[in-house]
Amino acid sequence: AKNHGGNRYRYFTEDMNAVVIERLEIENELRKAIERNEFELHYQPQYELPERKMIGVEALIRWNHPEIGRLPPERFIHIAEETGLIVPIGNWVLREACRTNADWQRQGFDPFRVAVNVSVVQFMESDFVQQVSLILEETGLEPRWLELELTESIFMKDHKRVGMQLTELRNLGVTIAIDDFGNGYSSMSYLQRLPVDCLKIDQSFIQDLENRKSDSERSKTLIKAFVNLASNLGVKLLAEGVETQEQSQVLNEMGCRLGQGFLYNFPMTADEIESICKKENRS
Ligand code: C2E
Ligand code: CA
Ligand code: CA
Ligand code: CA
Repeated sequence: AKNHGGNRYRYFTEDMNAVVIERLEIENELRKAIERNEFELHYQPQYELPERKMIGVEALIRWNHPEIGRLPPERFIHIAEETGLIVPIGNWVLREACRTNADWQRQGFDPFRVAVNVSVVQFMESDFVQQVSLILEETGLEPRWLELELTESIFMKDHKRVGMQLTELRNLGVTIAIDDFGNGYSSMSYLQRLPVDCLKIDQSFIQDLENRKSDSERSKTLIKAFVNLASNLGVKLLAEGVETQEQSQVLNEMGCRLGQGFLYNFPMTADEIESICKKENRS
């Protein structure tokens, strides 16, 4: 504020300040958010198509700040990762998701998996597997009803350790999905060596199905390759970001049988999931 330099310089520092201040503010607020109970999970159903049988839900974090309002994950997850706050936040997400799924099962709904996004920072913590195991015990959720979504970026980390951890998680009975599949930087050779249960095709491939003709052909070719790859490896394949009936139909024709997206549902509260389950169980 004491700055009397030329206009260009002043504007520049003001812009920088705004960015730095927002960041610091978010970081400070983030530190208090768990104890203040400001986080909430929304859930988006995953379906087996075309019957539309709900096979799972993905848990997605929401932050309701009393003054700033609701912040989307894009605004704070990276800050949480850089500051290490993602570890307690990630554990909160795991516990809340497992607790809620166990609660749904106790109410007698047909069981389904809950998929939880795990940051690579959280995954690389030395006690990550132990935390998962503790949370499962604490909440009473059977491990097979928990799926962990990891991005391909974990395969740029120490292969031996990542492999060991994935095997330990598998031995617990938890399943592993690769999120944003096809969008990664790594080679796909990891798929031969590491225990993975599901590939979630990155949304961009699904969206390209309706772009310019050349994009759409390219995208179809790749999705077809993913279908073959998944079938050869014996892993599930799920298309995320399905928004239109046409996309859904093309995916079905190509043999991709699992889907998630705005076409079926927006992410919703636990109570809304509950009412879907009640409707289904009544039929
Ligand atoms: P993601 O894991 O790839 O999650 C999918 C995102 O796409 C979600 O955004 C979801 O609301 C949105 N989406 C679902 N269906 C459609 C569709 O048909 N069309 C379009 N355009 N979008 C769709 P959201 O909830 O804003 O989350 C964004 C990202 O933030 C997630 O991407 C994930 O990387 C991260 N994230 C969310 N929750 C958590 C969490 O609990 N822990 C961690 N570490 N990351 C999280
Ligand atoms: Ca309840
Ligand atoms: Ca995800
Ligand atoms: Ca994704």
